[in-house]
Amino acid sequence: MEKHLVDSHIHVTMLPYEGLQAMAEGGIRKVITCSIVLAAQHAESYFDHYRLITGFYRKNAASLGIQLFSTIGIHPAGIPHDWPRLIQALPDFLQTDGVVGLGEVGMNQGSQLEQDVLKAQLEIARDYRKPIIVHIPFENRLNITELTLNLAAQVGIPAHLLVIDHANLDIIDQIRQFGAIPAITVRPRNVTLEVLSDNIEQFANGMLNSDFSNLFPNDPTGVIKAFHHLQKQGIDQRLIDNLTGQKAESVFGI
Ligand SMILES: [Zn+2]
Repeated sequence: MEKHLVDSHIHVTMLPYEGLQAMAEGGIRKVITCSIVLAAQHAESYFDHYRLITGFYRKNAASLGIQLFSTIGIHPAGIPHDWPRLIQALPDFLQTDGVVGLGEVGMNQGSQLEQDVLKAQLEIARDYRKPIIVHIPFENRLNITELTLNLAAQVGIPAHLLVIDHANLDIIDQIRQFGAIPAITVRPRNVTLEVLSDNIEQFANGMLNSDFSNLFPNDPTGVIKAFHHLQKQGIDQRLIDNLTGQKAESVFGI
């Protein structure tokens, strides 16, 4: 049976062509690329980035048989000084062909600026009924998760639109209690194949991704490896299909 896998979070501008090829050869058919402009100073950097990931890279991926979708937003690793201009423009960009939500957004330190930028984007997701991918950093995870979920509750975003990314055993109960959707990054620094299969019932309602970037060791075939690993462990095929494809398809309508 041919595989139809989905990687629900990568950064395509950082992905070598060979990485995209390996994804296609391993059975990935749909990919969501999330916005990120490291150390951005100006809103224009994001505008160009949105055009790049919704245009050029979409065609490139299609030539390998991958449907590339995008989420747009302001990443905490690059909040430009004129960020309110982006907030104003995001609703228009949400109408672009292939844009399926907001992301990657979230906080790294939980500063007032990060809170303001996240809140404004949660409000857009709420008003335009689009899913939003909110990342939880490597450090200070419990506090940032709590702060994120408190902001989400304040804004009143429906829980089925809230994707909490880089979920792991430490925060999975907080995510579940809120009713949000856990996204699970498969790589050594996040969830390993063994942790995934050993705790499969806790992760069962989530969606897998590789979050491929060039910032530390990453593997663009993480979702493919997880698919095969879970099969080898005898995990229910319906559950595997949900984690590696159907959940993302239903949340993002792709
Ligand atoms: Zn990311």
